Amino acid sequence: MLYIVATPIGNLKDITLRAIEVLKSADLIACEDTRHTKILLDHYGISRPTTSFFQHNRFTKAEYILGLLKGDKNIVLVSDAGTPGILDPGYNLINLAIKNNIPTTVIPGPSAFINALVLSGKPAHEFYFAGFLPNKKLSRQNKLRELSGLKCTVICYESCHRILATLGDIQSIMDARDIVLARELTKKFEEIIRGTPQVILEKFQKNRPRGEFIIIL
Ligand code: SAM
Repeated sequence: MLYIVATPIGNLKDITLRAIEVLKSADLIACEDTRHTKILLDHYGISRPTTSFFQHNRFTKAEYILGLLKGDKNIVLVSDAGTPGILDPGYNLINLAIKNNIPTTVIPGPSAFINALVLSGKPAHEFYFAGFLPNKKLSRQNKLRELSGLKCTVICYESCHRILATLGDIQSIMDARDIVLARELTKKFEEIIRGTPQVILEKFQKNRPRGEFIIIL
């Protein structure tokens, strides 16, 4: 069985009893970063073998893990945070397992964008998850133009390194819309920032943006 197991997005207590049970019984835990996952495993006294499964080894490692699954091993797939498969290499393994008729199941838990959406107070009955916006300015601006035509709530992931540039683009392309930034959800410095891109940019001129961000438009 391939178990897709959601893990905390910050607070180590945000894990289900079933996730702990499944992690404890795994033959192998495939992690994005084994050092990162070790913090969680140590916290819950879980001592099972781990292997790294990340962007640069995702094709060869997925084939190796498929071999173990075919040999009746129980493999747990986790990501650095949240639900595997949402913007991490998990997709490659999940897809390969399904194509090879490997029994696959999910142990549900946090995903950053769902929590940001409900906390934003924006309509959540219909929404579009845009993932990370493009790195390059022109592509990012084109993507924002495309998104501004949607008639539902839009969610994007963003890093602290690009948030100022992205806010600048949102300001020029989407004008004075009220937006919401969710920062460091479930962590010590969790913050929800509401306002126009202009107002939020001014705030960041006083305090440099830090941490992980989600933008809700
Ligand atoms: N698999 C994850 C999930 O289920 O949400 C997403 C992984 S994605 C590679 C990482 C991005 O998710 C970060 O750059 C940030 O935009 C967002 N993110 C993850 N944890 C977060 C948190 N605690 N607070 C705010 N954003 C977070």
